Amino acid sequence: MIYLHIPFCKSKCVYCGFYSIANLHGKELYLDALGKEIALRRDYLDCKPITTIYFGGGTPSLLSVSELENILRLLGDRFDLGQVVEMTLEANPEQLTAEYCRGLRALGFNRLSIGVQSFQDPVLRFMGRRHTAEEAMKAVDNAAAAFDNLSLDLIYGVSERDNAHWRQDLRTALSLPIRHLSCYALTPEENSILYKQIERRSHAPVDDDLAAQQYQILLDTLPHSALQQYEISNFAVPGFESKHNSSYWNHTPYLGLGPSAHSFDGHSRQWNPANLKQYCDNMAQGTPCEERETLTDDDLYNETLLLGLRTRAGVDLNAVASRFGGTRREELELHFRTHVAPEHYHIEKDRLCLTATGLWFADGIAQSAFLV
Ligand code: SF4
Repeated sequence: MIYLHIPFCKSKCVYCGFYSIANLHGKELYLDALGKEIALRRDYLDCKPITTIYFGGGTPSLLSVSELENILRLLGDRFDLGQVVEMTLEANPEQLTAEYCRGLRALGFNRLSIGVQSFQDPVLRFMGRRHTAEEAMKAVDNAAAAFDNLSLDLIYGVSERDNAHWRQDLRTALSLPIRHLSCYALTPEENSILYKQIERRSHAPVDDDLAAQQYQILLDTLPHSALQQYEISNFAVPGFESKHNSSYWNHTPYLGLGPSAHSFDGHSRQWNPANLKQYCDNMAQGTPCEERETLTDDDLYNETLLLGLRTRAGVDLNAVASRFGGTRREELELHFRTHVAPEHYHIEKDRLCLTATGLWFADGIAQSAFLV
């Protein structure tokens, strides 16, 4: 699987901690450097066929159809793309004209992930989004005319939107022709505008109780739709789960291209600098990925818990035993029996799974079982 990071946005949203710059200066240099990185790292995945490609960011939909076509051509020159089953582009509503959507589809993209976040204009303004609710609806319409597999992103736990309006946002999203919904709790990332506003006390801290209430509303609402929860933040019509993201949770090796992108080869992780100039310089010198971390067996075990427990499918206990030893499996089961509330988990068919309410505490439960 291949991830490409497109590090450009029109402006920064208040909560965002992803690496991106709020203009398109340097786009040509970036595209040139990306081409170099594709060539430099063609052997990273041991020449295995690629099954998923994901363009994330930043705002990948700021690239034109011909720029995307060129990137795909460069990928096709270096990788075996004959078995790609899912090719996703993250898009913001303001770029999704009917013509652009048709162009993406013609290139082979078969999944669009649209950053809507809310259908309430005051909430969108607070978040610093550049679209209105009406534009989001129009964008989904345009996308649906070209794509069968649409995903929307929404954000909850925003104090500018009460529970009634959150319910309304969910109802609106579920009335649209989508196959997948990602809902994330508002999290002011450390380098975000909102984080600084909270530090300066010009915005109230995030209200964890509100986020918990709105997560519960989400869990109460979704069963009335065709979408089923398959991960703490992700819901899909069965068969339309994100194959790309599911592979991260299964520890499948992946190649990440572009500034700030991470790669994983099964044993170690490498990442590019979160700095466009440094990234371009590195590629010009033929030295991608300055940073590297080798994962010990204990690290991989901890990650297996952290990632697996966030999914409804849970952790495969037989896989734990064969990868990390039978004793590790026994200790894990014992830890859950003695330290985790029985209503938060269940073991069924050799899988350790969190319940719907347990999922809300997934990170804490996983960390309580970590090897340190
Ligand atoms: S949330 Fe998306 S569009 Fe907004 S600044 Fe971050 S990457 Fe850009």
